[in-house]
Formats: sequence, structure tokens, C-alpha cells
Amino acid sequence: MPLVHEVQAQIRSLERFVPLLGQPAVDEARNLARWLFERLAGGVIWNVNSTAVGGGVAEMLHSLLGYARGAGLDVRWLTIGGSPDFFRITKRLHHALHGERGDGSPLDEAEHAVYASNLCHNAVELRELIRPGDVVLLHDPQTAGLAPTLLAAGARVLWRCHIGADETNDDTELGWRFLARYLDVVRVMIFSRETYVPARYRDGRASIIQPSIDAFSAKNIDLDDLTVRSILVHVGILEGPPPPSPHYGFSRSDDTPGRVERSADIVRLGRAPAWETPLVVQVSRWDPLKDMLGVLRGFSAMVENHAAPDVDLVLAGPNVRAVADDPEGPAVFDSVYRAFLEEPPAVRVHVHLAMLPTADVEENAVIVNALQRHAAIVVQKSLHEGFGLTVTEAMWKARPVIASAVGGIQDQIEDGVSGVLLRDPNDLDTFAGELHRVLADRALAERLGAAARERVRQRFLGVRHLVQYGEIIGRLVAA
Ligand code: UDP
Repeated sequence: MPLVHEVQAQIRSLERFVPLLGQPAVDEARNLARWLFERLAGGVIWNVNSTAVGGGVAEMLHSLLGYARGAGLDVRWLTIGGSPDFFRITKRLHHALHGERGDGSPLDEAEHAVYASNLCHNAVELRELIRPGDVVLLHDPQTAGLAPTLLAAGARVLWRCHIGADETNDDTELGWRFLARYLDVVRVMIFSRETYVPARYRDGRASIIQPSIDAFSAKNIDLDDLTVRSILVHVGILEGPPPPSPHYGFSRSDDTPGRVERSADIVRLGRAPAWETPLVVQVSRWDPLKDMLGVLRGFSAMVENHAAPDVDLVLAGPNVRAVADDPEGPAVFDSVYRAFLEEPPAVRVHVHLAMLPTADVEENAVIVNALQRHAAIVVQKSLHEGFGLTVTEAMWKARPVIASAVGGIQDQIEDGVSGVLLRDPNDLDTFAGELHRVLADRALAERLGAAARERVRQRFLGVRHLVQYGEIIGRLVAA
């Protein structure tokens, strides 16, 4: 069985952005792509990560690759594979770079041996595909260890780190020390925030690119109310009569028609919410740093402290058996489930734990889209966050967002203007109070939502992201 797989991204046209950003911005991106194409002289730009589905990196790659290919560049995407032990170690590294202990396991020579040998098997396959002069964008700690081999093979290697911590601690030190053996040779690195650049790479090699979303993907495209309602009834998140079939259809990125066929696996005590019931929603992977548990407890505090309003909580994430590089998913889901069982029945009847089907990426995306659009409030109560694409997605849908003031979320939301920031994500009383405040004040919710959408339009759409990548790769190729 090969470890390396190529992911096909659908070609997309930048032209679609003209109504949102204006012709000059789109022309600038196209001209840069043309210039880069000539510079590359037949070379390929490869992206390498560890999963084609689940999480923000995969999400962005699908979209950016599509637009880059649409602009004429030969950009491709490969995923690597590894043993369960490899992914346990890379998850440990992921936590460490966030400044967290994770499972607290060591990152010593034995772990280097597992990490390096898994990547060595992948490198054998990659070297069959990548030619000298090609550009390789390695994403995140899972792929960092490929850098020395690929550089030695004559590729131009960049490393893109999508995670980080604003402050250093023993865990960040441990993580960066582990990776230094592989990364010190890389001359071009990209981080999501200035504060994420570790001291050892503050020597001119680091650039900053903030992530972005695709306004036209199944995840973010406009959906009318009938479609939203039909999708959410069909998957079992809302109750209601069976939807007329055309209304849980959607348009795929290759313009073929898609239909939401699968249902969500939902744990709940009572009935599904009705269309009219306001929903508090958090969508994320079942990862301890996303703090689904804290959202549940904060919601429970709101129900108990502020005369129980008619509002439901939906905690939604991927089906825990499906995300290959996230071994913690089942355990985290289980801990949320156990906490749910401990809540008093008066709270439990308002809570829905939804595992969304992931077999079809675009089906999953349109369900997330419908859920975010239907939310009265979108929450992202992460304890740490690289950037927080779910925040951008909800802001683009003009939702009021209540999110932790951690990582890149702080670059997105201006507190009180385009959303609400929680200074201390562990302060559940304040969280409960903010939920209540925004739920009770419709005008505030609308104001926050409108400002949020405008902020995303100006700063967080993919064209800006592509231009920044293009400039950095251009400099590397010209060097
Ligand atoms: N996501 C999804 N289905 C799910 C859970 C999450 O499509 O069941 C998406 C979510 O919409 C977002 C991405 O996964 O696009 C998560 O990115 P984010 O930056 O919020 O967090 P990460 O998972 O990268 O830490």
C-alpha cells in the first residue's frame, strides 16, 4: 500500500471574486500567477500534508489549490501516511507547539526514531514524484522531517506552520527542540502570526501569512433558508417534516449537482430542535484544545443562572472514526458524552452532540455551512488556536461569534465590534453571561454579524492569501 496519495483539487476561477473584491485585485493575482509560471519554467509547486479531509489546513488547501490551478499554475497536493505511533507523536508535537502537554509522553530519541523512519518511507515515494527545482510546501510538524531529504534531492523547500503559541513555555521549547533537527536547514518558513515564530527562526527566514476562507466553496456559499432548513432536517439536527428533495441539494466545486445523502450521528436526550429554536453552535474537531467540554459547561451555567431560555446547544464535529491523523477524537468525544450524561435533565434536553458524516467532503461542508448559517450564536471557545477558520466562516455568514481571545482569533474579531472575545476562555460564568447577553439582544447580534462579514471581505478571503504565497515563492524561485 502506498503511503503517499495525490489529492485532486477542482480547478476554480478567480473571476468569481470580482463582485466581492473588484477587478484590480483579481487582475493583480492573475498577473502574479503568470509571472510565477514563467519563473517556474515547468516546475511544479507541491503541497505536502497528512490529511485530505478534516481540519483547517485541508480545508484551505482544497480551495487555494483550485484557484492557483485555475490561474494556470501547476500546483499539486500530496498526503503522507504513517503508523498510529507516528500520528501519536505528531499530535504530541502539535500540542507542544501550542504550549500544551498533550498526553505528556516524551519526545526523545525513541520518538525521533519512529518519526524519522515513518518519514523516510514517505520520502522514498515522494522522490519518485518531486524533481529538482520543484517547489515543495511542507505543512505542519507531520511533514517537517521531510525537509532535509527533499532539499538534498534539489527541491526548493518551504515549511508552513499553521499552529503556534503566543508565549513560550517548556512545552513549546520541547516541540521546537525536537523539530530543529529537521527544520534548521529550511531557509523559508511561513507562520500565521508574528508571535508564533520561535526565537531560533527570527533571523529573517520567517514570513507571516494569515489564513483565509473560500467564499464560494460548499462550506461558505450562500444558502437560502429553505435549503438550510432542508439540510438540517435531513441530517437529523432539526425536526420537521421531510424536506422536498431538491432542497437538500447543492452545487459542487466542479459545478455538478450534489445532494446531502447521509445523516449525522446525534446523541440527545429529548427532541431535535425546531426551526424556530435559537441554536448556540460550536463546530470543531473533537480535540481537547477546542474545549467542547467547556462549551457544554458554560451553556449549562447559562441555562441554570439566567432563567432557562428556549435555546439549544449543538456541538458538532466530524465522525470520530473518520479523521485519520486525529487519534484523540474518540476519547474527546467520549469525555464530552460522559459530561453530557452528568448534566441535569433540564440542561440535557437542550444539548445535541452531532457527529457529522465525513465520507463526502463537500456533503460534510454544506452541512457545516447550513449549521453555521442557522446558528443564533457561533461559539469557538478554544483554549489555544492557530487561527480558527471556524470563526472566519461564521463571521462571513454574518453570525455573532463569541470566541476565546487566543491565537489568530484575536486578529479576526475586534471585541464588541465584529464579535465578542472571551479574555479568559476558562471563565465559564463570563462565557455564560455573554451567551445570554447576545441571545437577548437581537440588534446587538445583527450589528456584530454585519461587521463580521465586512471584516472577512476585507481581510480573510483567499485572493489575498494566494498573492502572499505567490510573492514568497516568487522570491524563492528568483533567488
Ligand atoms: N470542520 C468541518 N467539519 C467538522 C468539523 C470541522 O468541515 O465536522 C472544518 C471547519 O469548518 C473548519 C476546519 O474544519 O473549516 C477547522 O479549522 P480550524 O482552523 O477552526 O481548526 P483546526 O481543526 O485546523 O484546528
